[in-house]
Amino acid sequence: MNINQIKDQLEEERTKILLEISNLDTSVKSFPDADIAEEFEGADVMNNKIERFKMRDELEEVLKDIDITLGKIKKNKYGLCENCKLNIEPKRLEMYPFAKYCTKCMDNFENEK
Ligand SMILES: [Zn+2]
Repeated sequence: MNINQIKDQLEEERTKILLEISNLDTSVKSFPDADIAEEFEGADVMNNKIERFKMRDELEEVLKDIDITLGKIKKNKYGLCENCKLNIEPKRLEMYPFAKYCTKCMDNFENEK
């Protein structure tokens, strides 16, 4: 996979996530207020709402990773380990496009724990 394909993929993913977030926002808004919901519809609606907020948080995390990665691509720093500054193994990047560290550094971090 070359860098342009990765970039395209990330930008596509970014658009999808933005859409999902706005869908979530719309559906959360259509829920009744929490205290009213509890009174009239029970805990199910509440849980559903909490679940959606959690999903939104997770999507925003991914969005952040995508933006950081796109920034790195722009600066020609994509695929470099943030620790040792060497290239991250292409295989690892295929599995984890947002990888910040190479396998070697990751192993070192794991061992330190
Ligand atoms: Zn490294």
